[in-house]
Amino acid sequence: MALKRYKKSKPLGVCTVCKDFTGEHIRMNHRCVRSHGGRRCAGIYRSSLTVVWNECPTCHGLGLVGSQKCGECAGWGWILHSMT
Ligand SMILES: [Zn+2]
Ligand SMILES: [Zn+2]
Repeated sequence: MALKRYKKSKPLGVCTVCKDFTGEHIRMNHRCVRSHGGRRCAGIYRSSLTVVWNECPTCHGLGLVGSQKCGECAGWGWILHSMT
């Protein structure tokens, strides 16, 4: 059985502080779920529409290298280039 590979869609939102990605609608405009050194991140997931994305050069947007999650983009397939 051939495994079909599709490019991942871009993350929906990006934390304004730690640049964590989210793919969940319910997290949008809510506090970031990450914590740093025991303190919850103060960032908010904002729409990624204002973000410039680069397709991951390692996995070419697939999020996988072979059968392994891509380490370069943490499996997202996209890398944040800049935020406006
Ligand atoms: Zn954050
Ligand atoms: Zn990648």
